[in-house]
Amino acid sequence: MDCIFCKIASGAIPAAKLYEDPEVVAFRDLHPQAPTHFLVIPRKHLSSLNDLTADDEPLIGHILHVAKTLANQAGIATSGFRTVFNTNADGGQTVLHLHLHVLGGRQMSWPPG
Ligand code: 5GP
Ligand code: ZN
Repeated sequence: MDCIFCKIASGAIPAAKLYEDPEVVAFRDLHPQAPTHFLVIPRKHLSSLNDLTADDEPLIGHILHVAKTLANQAGIATSGFRTVFNTNADGGQTVLHLHLHVLGGRQMSWPPG
């Protein structure tokens, strides 16, 4: 499949990886929107949250736990951070491989744009 995040997960194209294990990979966003901005993705190709099944519930939990651990390592746990899954066009999703954004190091605004 011609998917950029599958290629990052496999190592076929480079990324600034922060963490990887058999289930997930975390790497810095190419166009950071905050001083800290990284993505946590499953190795398994799911296009978006719309593809999620009950079997994927542990995977989503693991993605969130990795995000928490890396946010702590990045020093943004106490100051705070934002976690976002964008889904399809209205959600602002541009890469159709499920990913969790983790953003921190500045004040986030609400509501989001
Ligand atoms: P989305 O808009 O789908 O929620 O987020 C996709 C994110 O992936 C964007 O923030 C974009 O900057 C990032 N991105 C797109 N292509 C690449 C890439 O090749 N490498 C990295 N590290 N990030 C990418
Ligand atoms: Zn993919």
